[in-house]
Amino acid sequence: MRIVFVGPPGAGKGTQAAKLIADYRLVHLSTGDMLRAARDAKTEIGLKAEGYMAAGQLVPDEVIVEVIGQRLREDDCRQGYLLDGFPRTIAQAEALDALLAQAGTPLDLVLEIRVAEDELFRRLAGRGRADDSEEVIRQRLVAYRNQTEPLLAYYSRSGLLKTVDGLGTVEEIYQRIQKVLGEVQ
Ligand code: AMP
Repeated sequence: MRIVFVGPPGAGKGTQAAKLIADYRLVHLSTGDMLRAARDAKTEIGLKAEGYMAAGQLVPDEVIVEVIGQRLREDDCRQGYLLDGFPRTIAQAEALDALLAQAGTPLDLVLEIRVAEDELFRRLAGRGRADDSEEVIRQRLVAYRNQTEPLLAYYSRSGLLKTVDGLGTVEEIYQRIQKVLGEVQ
């Protein structure tokens, strides 16, 4: 299966992704992880991305589309994957659609984990990652609302979108996700 995970920072995507990839044998494609690795290794992409990441802003579409385009061509992706953190803009979604149409491997599902914004802020403020200062958290939520939320209508139109409630225990949320996957498979 080819799945896109959509949800604001703090929705629990990472935790749920770890469970999903193990149970469904999917490759985990986290653009945040890829960019952090590139930044730490000081590659050309990493140097381009660094400032945006530190400010809680999205890196330019062409940079991330290049990164993910290359990754999707690797052999392991044939077994199915979970895209976590990509696409995050309509332009990225369109680029992904074009890429997958060309390869003849369309998406099976876009899964949204929905959590209200005040709850997200509480969770993120408690997480304490280096890029999680209050202002940066606010920026990341603004970026989600303005740039990523429009994806929900985009994927809803193509009939791929399913939404699960992101409030509850890790297990409760995972069960909701499994139920949706059962309906798609
Ligand atoms: P994440 O761990 O997914 O929250 O990503 C951390 C940071 O990496 C984000 O705040 C962005 O600066 C950048 N990033 C990750 N994925 C993308 C993407 N698809 N488009 C633009 N920027 C991204």
